[in-house]
Amino acid sequence: MQSPQIAVMFPDTGLSVRDAAPAANGNFVQLRQVCKSYGENIVVMDRMNLDMRADDRLVIIGPSGSGKSSLLRVMMGLEGIQSGEIAFRGEPYIYGADAGRTKRIDTNLQKQIGMVFQHYTLFPHLSVLGNLILAPTKVGGMSKTQATERARTYLARLGLESKLHAYPSQLSGGQKQRVAIARALMLEPKLMLFDEVTSALDPEMVIEVQNVMLKLAEQKMAMIIVTHDMHFARSIATRVVFCAGGKIVEQGSPAEMFRSPKEPRTREFLEKVLHFD
Ligand code: ADP
Ligand code: MG
Repeated sequence: MQSPQIAVMFPDTGLSVRDAAPAANGNFVQLRQVCKSYGENIVVMDRMNLDMRADDRLVIIGPSGSGKSSLLRVMMGLEGIQSGEIAFRGEPYIYGADAGRTKRIDTNLQKQIGMVFQHYTLFPHLSVLGNLILAPTKVGGMSKTQATERARTYLARLGLESKLHAYPSQLSGGQKQRVAIARALMLEPKLMLFDEVTSALDPEMVIEVQNVMLKLAEQKMAMIIVTHDMHFARSIATRVVFCAGGKIVEQGSPAEMFRSPKEPRTREFLEKVLHFD
């Protein structure tokens, strides 16, 4: 049984998202003993456990190569895992291939998760409108008219209505990322995954994208965010998760993690990226 979805609106951007209310708050996302490796030697998830509540905004931090992107791609179903289980809103949807069961990805659950990547993944041969309506018409069962209507609404609310017929090559980096976010929202996901979405942007464009994410946060969108921007992490996270060596080394509130991390590895990492005086 899915809990009722409550449509909510942003007061100033007017962005419409659905309030993600799971059956039980504590089991919105669960990773259990997840193992993921590439070949023999690269272990990116080593019996990883993670719990996320519907009102959480997890910020994942960790050294380059520690498997942050792999974690998001796995959750999105873009890559398989060797063993373990991932559940979303109380229902398992990804199993490890050697867990004694056939690997299964429940596409209905997967459709409730949206993802935005570091490098713009807009289709260059499609207009902004074409990019936005592609998934809703192909997999979301919407008519072209309905999807176009929704695309107009999202773009208007993101201040991008004049770009409806523009092609990605005619947009700035910040505009492209905002279109990518709008596109991910078109299927009204319950969980959004952001993988370093501002890392490739010029500094003046970072804020416009972060502001969109902060608005989503205000409306209680559940999010998992990978970022190297610790200032942004502090402003958006309900919980900060430090990953290294395929494990979650430490997690806590932004205040705990940034002021007084307990684990030496967390401290060492944060000292490098925070530039303490
Ligand atoms: P992060 O996002 O934390 O930098 P990634 O998840 O991108 O880490 O990568 C973790 C490790 O897995 C790295 O050593 C990377 O080279 C390796 N890796 C990532 N994707 C693949 C792949 N498709 N095939 C082989 N190795 C990969
Ligand atoms: Mg990465």
